[in-house]
Amino acid sequence: MRKIKLITISLIFSVMLGIAPVTIAANSDIIATPTTHLLSFDGSLVDVVAAFTINNENYFKLRDIALLVNSFDVTYDSEKSAISIISDVPYTPNGTESTAKPSGYTTIAPSTDKVYIGETALDLTAYKIDGANYFRLKDLGAALGFSVGFDADTKTVLITTVSTAPPPAPVPVAAPTITPEPTPNTSESDVYITDTGSKYHRSSCRYLDESKYEVSLSWAISNGYEPCKVCKP
Ligand SMILES: [Zn+2]
Repeated sequence: MRKIKLITISLIFSVMLGIAPVTIAANSDIIATPTTHLLSFDGSLVDVVAAFTINNENYFKLRDIALLVNSFDVTYDSEKSAISIISDVPYTPNGTESTAKPSGYTTIAPSTDKVYIGETALDLTAYKIDGANYFRLKDLGAALGFSVGFDADTKTVLITTVSTAPPPAPVPVAAPTITPEPTPNTSESDVYITDTGSKYHRSSCRYLDESKYEVSLSWAISNGYEPCKVCKP
């Protein structure tokens, strides 16, 4: 509505002044309203977070979201003149997090600040409102790995960091295995060892091609030989 009114006024002035209608600066097209939506983080309502609604989408300050999500840090990289996001670390507040919800604003313009995660530049839609960057929440969610939803009934923006995917199938708990007593080869059957191996074998085992010495099973065991996995004596 306001945009139409501005254009109308502009046209009237143009006609009055007898000049071609001036192009309205892009910035005057941007209308932000302090959001009236509630915000829920992982199921709990969050009290003070500054947010504006622009074109029916919610924009938040990066540091407010960082404080909330607490799984990434934010620094200003003066070399790159850019905001840097460090993943997988707790957030370090710097005192510029919101302490009150804005009731309005004086200036707004598309933000030209760059944002990086590591060396990767992020493509985030952002506006600079009264000197502070407000990012489209959906963009932040996509870049930082949280999901953004909206409960239309309660007019609540939902930020979820826990996976909403069905939990993986439970890993079957191994039934306590009753380890069978090693079948005591009670018959003092003889087994065979080799020159170099550490296993004992049945007479027919292919590992006995090179050398083959008959020993008693008890001798083999007491001398540290183990059963061959091939012939399973
Ligand atoms: Zn063997």
